[in-house]
Amino acid sequence: MVEQKLRCYFVCNPKAYDGCGVAVVTTTAKKAKQLAFRTEPIKDEEWIDLRVNWNKKANIEGLEDGHIFIDDKEVMDAMYRGIYGATEYMTCPRCGTEDTFVYEVYENVFCCGNCEEGLTKEDINNPYVKKEEVTG
Ligand SMILES: [Zn+2]
Repeated sequence: MVEQKLRCYFVCNPKAYDGCGVAVVTTTAKKAKQLAFRTEPIKDEEWIDLRVNWNKKANIEGLEDGHIFIDDKEVMDAMYRGIYGATEYMTCPRCGTEDTFVYEVYENVFCCGNCEEGLTKEDINNPYVKKEEVTG
């Protein structure tokens, strides 16, 4: 048997207007779809509408087969790993505002719209959570 390498897959319905999806770490696209099916972010989607994309740029170091990015901590981790670029209903890592839209403003700098306006050069050069803390 060939050794199966872990990959990061993004499962979503490309026709859904909000573009919500779920990232999963596993070995095949089929397994990714099975793991993601009926999870909260895509619970209303039908099996046949779901598409699975391999995210080749994702950093999945230290993660195990079956890892799924759903709860807030996992989602934030996924953002620092280059898996999600933005997410809704998150707590802003800078100001703590809940249920807001958090996105990558600069490389590894994630915050909500309010924070973006007040970002200083220092903030940009010193991301709230440094990449090494997440990946190391
Ligand atoms: Zn904020």
